[in-house]
Amino acid sequence: MRTDVDGTADWTTPGAFEVVSGLFRIPLPLLGDALRAVNVYAFLDGAGGDGVGLIDSGWAIPSAHRQLRESLAAIDRRIEDIQRILVTHVHRDHYTEAVQLRREFGSRVGLGQGERTSLEIAMSPREVPWEAQLSKLRSQGAAVLADEIAVHLRTETMTGDEWEEPDDWLAPGETELSGRRLRAIATPGHTQGHLVFHDADRALLFAGDHVLPGITPSIGFESAPSINPLGDFLTSLATVRAIPDARLLPAHGAVTDSVHARVDELAAHHDVRLAATELAVRAGASTAFEVAVLLRWTRRERDFDELDRFNQMLAINETSAHLLLLASRGQITSTVLDDVRHFG
Ligand SMILES: [Zn+2]
Repeated sequence: MRTDVDGTADWTTPGAFEVVSGLFRIPLPLLGDALRAVNVYAFLDGAGGDGVGLIDSGWAIPSAHRQLRESLAAIDRRIEDIQRILVTHVHRDHYTEAVQLRREFGSRVGLGQGERTSLEIAMSPREVPWEAQLSKLRSQGAAVLADEIAVHLRTETMTGDEWEEPDDWLAPGETELSGRRLRAIATPGHTQGHLVFHDADRALLFAGDHVLPGITPSIGFESAPSINPLGDFLTSLATVRAIPDARLLPAHGAVTDSVHARVDELAAHHDVRLAATELAVRAGASTAFEVAVLLRWTRRERDFDELDRFNQMLAINETSAHLLLLASRGQITSTVLDDVRHFG
């Protein structure tokens, strides 16, 4: 049932791949990231002009910039022709190249209004890198890991320079790209301000990181997370399950035939994880860190100790989201003791 429209085995292969007439998937490289690549989707002008519209932009790194230029050239368009960019969420692999394109070519950038707080934190030059994520990690019972990551981060340059506000803070509802009608749908969970874009005329859903094939989107990994990110995410899954089924155009992975089929798999995955998480609490694990250590990770069922530090942080964050949802449902209790959240 899964279709790689490109006819190639690997969705990360560089190029411009036509999804439907006048719409192309362009994978762009990332830096040292397990996600391997990010898809941006290029809309040619419906009226036959040279203009190009993008959904998501990629990460502002030279290799991605070059590959975007070359991929557009393959379909007789120039990077200078990008007029408008709609971005699904504030993560740097989706948003920062849009800022770069605007600086160089004056492209108009739109981002969901719910990303405002996280973007403000990212733009703030005085902010210690990942301060919010690391203090959250401490509250999840993983102070040692937070200290290790903090030491590692000091060697990275994080100036805040790659961030700027968008031209348009997008609200849910009708919007337009290269003459095509789209509907922006609020899908908080992966981030609070995440949007997907529905092309009802052609039964396509530009899903960003809300619905991904092959992997489960991380939940609430952002500077200003919601109090119940998994609850938000599951509600957002139900939101896209309630619109007519469409082809899934994800930000990471190949295009597949059915949003509904993948949403059902993701919901089932979280049911299994919720049950395992509750069991770990019943077995005596108290913090998100302690629960995460008891669970298995990735499709390969790895031990927590086999993950690198960054993925351990994501794993604890993920576990915390499951615990907070269980607590909100009254299935477990939640108390804060010395700034660390305990469940029981
Ligand atoms: Zn992403």
